[in-house]
This record gives sequence, structure tokens and C-alpha cells, in this order.
Amino acid sequence: MSNIIERTDVVIVGAGFTGLSAALDFQRAGIDCLVLEARARVGGRVEAKPNGLGELIDSGGQFLCQDMPELMALAKARGKTFVATHVEGDFITHPPMSVEQAERTYVTAMAIRERMNAIEPDDPSIAGLTVATWLEHQKDTPDAKAAFRSMIEGLWCLALDKVPLWYLIDNDRRITNEVPELQYSLRETMQSLAEDIAGDLGQGLRLNAPVTRIEHGPQGVRAVTAGGVVEARAALVALPPATAAKLEFTPALPENVAKALGVWESGAVLKILVRYARPFWRERDWSGMVMWRDLPGLFACDTGKDAEHAALTVFVGGPLALRWHELGAAQLRAQVAARLVDALGPDAAGIVDFSVRDWTHDRWSGGAYSDLIVDVTARDAERTILAGVPPVYFAASEVSPSFPGYVEGAIVAGRIAAGKVQSAIATSASGS
Ligand SMILES: Cc1cc2nc3c(=O)[nH]c(=O)nc-3n(C[C@H](O)[C@H](O)[C@H](O)COP(=O)(O)OP(=O)(O)OC[C@H]3O[C@@H](n4cnc5c(N)ncnc54)[C@H](O)[C@@H]3O)c2cc1C
Repeated sequence: MSNIIERTDVVIVGAGFTGLSAALDFQRAGIDCLVLEARARVGGRVEAKPNGLGELIDSGGQFLCQDMPELMALAKARGKTFVATHVEGDFITHPPMSVEQAERTYVTAMAIRERMNAIEPDDPSIAGLTVATWLEHQKDTPDAKAAFRSMIEGLWCLALDKVPLWYLIDNDRRITNEVPELQYSLRETMQSLAEDIAGDLGQGLRLNAPVTRIEHGPQGVRAVTAGGVVEARAALVALPPATAAKLEFTPALPENVAKALGVWESGAVLKILVRYARPFWRERDWSGMVMWRDLPGLFACDTGKDAEHAALTVFVGGPLALRWHELGAAQLRAQVAARLVDALGPDAAGIVDFSVRDWTHDRWSGGAYSDLIVDVTARDAERTILAGVPPVYFAASEVSPSFPGYVEGAIVAGRIAAGKVQSAIATSASGS
């Protein structure tokens, strides 16, 4: 191991939107910082890669909506082109239902979600309950419960019997958009925003630099990578909790903090872009949105950026993603194509390009949109993580007060953490 030692004010671990937005705030405040990123690129769970046609596509986080103020402001400030998602037309369910029936089922599933969110997370009568146990005791029809389960497993990407009810309520209450979250994507890709910030950071960012250990004490921190050591006054660990739990700390983290990081589990998601020669579903007045009632966690929507780029994005979330993760590439493609043909007819077989990003068990970010708490007793986990072990601080989209599990949440979490670290540094400077 090399023994190069560098010095900075704040070392940030992770160049996802949490780490990048914190770094930008430090830079604006004139605080020296260095971001260490494990991968060869920035963006974390936001990623762009070329499909088989050479078109750059968002293979991770992609959508934003007007109710996400930080992300909207950033995209506007960076001059991005907003592409409105095509939503006009009928929503298809499979096995088929009439449009009226499908709408009724959706409304009832949303009513279950609202009923759930009306419960106080601290209500003692729900202590120890998972979402699955609670749902079993609801008096809704099996169809409505199946639609609710599909919606939740699709959005949170974990089996409902793993997720504490109080946690889902607490988390869902922070997702406050009134317009659909799929409202826009960016023509230049969401990833281009991360690249823009990386450009501003210049030498303040290092790629291919996974941090393996953080040594910490009252005098400051040392972040250890294979290439050397970065000494700093504070460290901001901008990693999803289950990934942060894998870091080595010297001395070991206090038991309550280690436990708070250990109660999270990454979900599983596959994101698939299916390109067609023409948007045949639009010709039938279908929106391209499809929900499979027999396969919870499977969902498709129209993500064509214009008439020449007809595309459906298929999301496979939760237990279904874990099962399909085991399929080989050819089998997965056959499986998805067959499901699309079931729902949208034989035209759906005319696939021009099929591009899969399997996030399941991703080494650096966990396997889905976000990690979730899976311990019904861990009511204090987020608070404990946010308190950190100064001068080591933690932040990630997961622990954001708004839009946890979204890019917006990552920006908010990064900015709050930057403010906290900045004032801690100022206090220690004035005290020394
Ligand atoms: C398929 C998919 C689709 C999504 N769709 C949307 C969407 O449409 N809209 C939306 O708002 N959100 C979406 N999300 C969620 C959103 O992308 C995330 O919530 C957000 O990007 C998380 O940002 P973060 O910085 O907190 O974490 P991350 O992006 O996970 O960043 C953590 C960073 O730390 C790095 N790292 C890990 N370990 C180390 C280490 N030891 N040393 C150094 N670096 C390390 C990782 O490589 C990564 O770059 C999606 C996510 C996925 C996976």
C-alpha cells in the first residue's frame, strides 16, 4: 500500500448526489474538501450508458417532477432540457380488466395507502407489525390488496413482510409530490447533472478510490484507500446505510451507531429499456403504462423522448427482481418480451433494442432505489445515523427529511449534512 498522505478540511466518501451536493456547498463556502469515489464515474445510483443503438440512456435514477425543488432548480440552473413523460391514454392492466375496473382498483389501492399513512408511526398498536401483517387484517378485496402490494413492492423494491409498518408510513409521508413523480426526464440524462457538478469540483474529486477504513478521533479523521490516506478535520460518509455498514472504522463505531447502520437492507431492481421502431401503443390510445396484476413489482411506462425514439421502460422490483436476477440474458429477454406481448399484443415482440441494468446486489450502492429499515424495533436508527460520531458524519438519500430514496432526497441530505459539518468545523476553529 502506498503511504501518500494528503490533507483537506473535509473528506467525503461517495460521489452520488448526496456527496456531490455536499461538496458543492463546501466549495461555495470556501471549505477545502476531497470526494473519494469507488467507481470510475460519479452519480452512484444515477448512471447513464449507451444502449445497443448507441443512444445514451439513464440506467439508474431518471425522473423528476415540479414538486422536487432542489433537483428542479439544479436542472434549470444547468440548462437541461425537460422531456415530459408521455402519459396520455389508457393504463393497461394484465390479466386484463376494463379501463373502469382498472381505475377502480388503482383508486382502492391508493385508498389503502392513504389509510396506512393516516396511522401515526408512533401508535403503540402498530409496534412490531410489518406492512404484510397489517395488510392481511384489512377488509379490502383481494384485487385491491394485490394492487397495493404490487405498487409498494414496485416502489420500495422489498417484500412487504420485511418492512416495518411504522417505517413505510414515516418514509412515505416524506414523499410529498402531488404531480406524478414520472413527470419529466432530462434529454441530456440525469447523469449529466452529476458530471456537471464533478466538472465544478475539478481536483476536489478522485475516482477509482474506494475507501476501506476510516480512522477517527477528536483531532480529526484519516480516510484510507489503496492509493494512500486523506487526513481531514471531518469525514462525511455519503453512502447508503447498508453500504456504509461495510466500512471499517478504527476505533469501531459505538454499538448504537453500528446497530443503526446494520438494520437496513437493499432492495432489488432491474431497469430495462425496450426500444421499438414506433410507439404502437400510442396508436391505440394506450399510455404505455402497464401493471401486471399476476406479477407484483412489474411495471412499464413510455419513456420515448420523441416519436423517433419509441421506448418502454420496464421496472422489475422486489422479490420478482431477485427471481429474474437468476435468469440468463436470453431467458430474461424472452420473459419480459412475453409479458409485454401478453399485455400489449403481438407488436410488442418487435423489439429493436433491449438494454438491461441489473442493480440487484450492486457492490457500491445496494440493489435498488434505496435501502429500507427491516428491523421493526429500530425506531431510532435514522436519528442515530444523523447524529453520527463527530467528526464522522453520515448522509444519504435514505435519511433525508424529504424525498428519501430519490435524487431530490440525496441533494437535500447532502446539503443539510454540509451545513452541519460546516458549523461543527467553525465551532471547533473558534474554540481552538
Ligand atoms: C434503477 C434506479 C432507478 C431510479 N429512479 C429514480 C428516479 O427516476 N428518480 C429519482 O429521483 N430517483 C431514482 N432512483 C433513486 C436515486 O437514484 C437515489 O435515491 C439517489 O441517486 C441516491 O443518491 P446517494 O448519493 O444518496 O447514494 P448513491 O447514489 O448510492 O451514492 C453513493 C456513492 O458512493 C460510492 N461508494 C460506495 N462505497 C464506497 C466506498 N467504500 N468508497 C468510496 N465511494 C463509495 C458509490 O459508488 C456511489 O457513487 C433510482 C435508483 C435506481 C437504482
